Amino acid sequence: MILLDRVTKKYGKKGLALDRVSLHIAPKEFVLIVGSSGAGKSTLLKLLTREEKPTSGKIVVGGVDYDRLKDREVPLLRRKIGTIFQDFKLLPNRTVFENIAFALEIVGMTNKEIQFTVPKVIDLVGLNGKEHNFPKELSGGEQQRVAIARAVVRQPKILIADEPTGNLDPKHAWDVVSVLEKINQHGTTVLMTTHNQEIVNKLQRRVITIDGGKVSQDVAGRKS
Ligand code: ADP
Repeated sequence: MILLDRVTKKYGKKGLALDRVSLHIAPKEFVLIVGSSGAGKSTLLKLLTREEKPTSGKIVVGGVDYDRLKDREVPLLRRKIGTIFQDFKLLPNRTVFENIAFALEIVGMTNKEIQFTVPKVIDLVGLNGKEHNFPKELSGGEQQRVAIARAVVRQPKILIADEPTGNLDPKHAWDVVSVLEKINQHGTTVLMTTHNQEIVNKLQRRVITIDGGKVSQDVAGRKS
């Protein structure tokens, strides 16, 4: 569960990015966050990943009260929250397999476990046969699916996707969204920001609109 209670974020004295935002997102929901550029969407996501701290208000994610979170506990929190971005952020000199394996190496998983786990997520995102390709040998949609595989390989409870289709043509964008839906069906909460109205219409999920740092609309989707 994600809970925000009157969360305000100011950058410096003036820059009010979020203004008393209250939200409740249930486990396993698929939520779209929309709003014009500068509305506060990325700030909201950064507060959840603890890249930023709120100026005031309460945040509780998966039972963790962020007011009580110690800095040394943040890495553990981030393992429960997978992230993907518009610019895939893959390691260019590593293959698909190695990019995904890296997420497991850094948490100390054994080679045997890695060899067992990575093929499962490669299969999940539909990249069988591309294991030994380098990112530059893949389409944008395939690169984003590697980034998704890397984000979910540690089985996070929540997947945060900040404009994941922003760099993709409509066909690849939809491939990526389909993979996110599949991951959601496996029980992961998905929060996704998007500017793509077609995706919003087609997905029929809950849509939260942020406008000038406030939630201006929160509409349940038919599939929510
Ligand atoms: P969105 O993701 O909806 O485009 P952001 O959350 O990035 O919006 O930004 C919300 C507001 O906060 C904007 O006015 C932006 O300029 C400001 N802002 C975002 N990040 C910073 C920062 N690190 N320092 C100062 N102002 C920021």
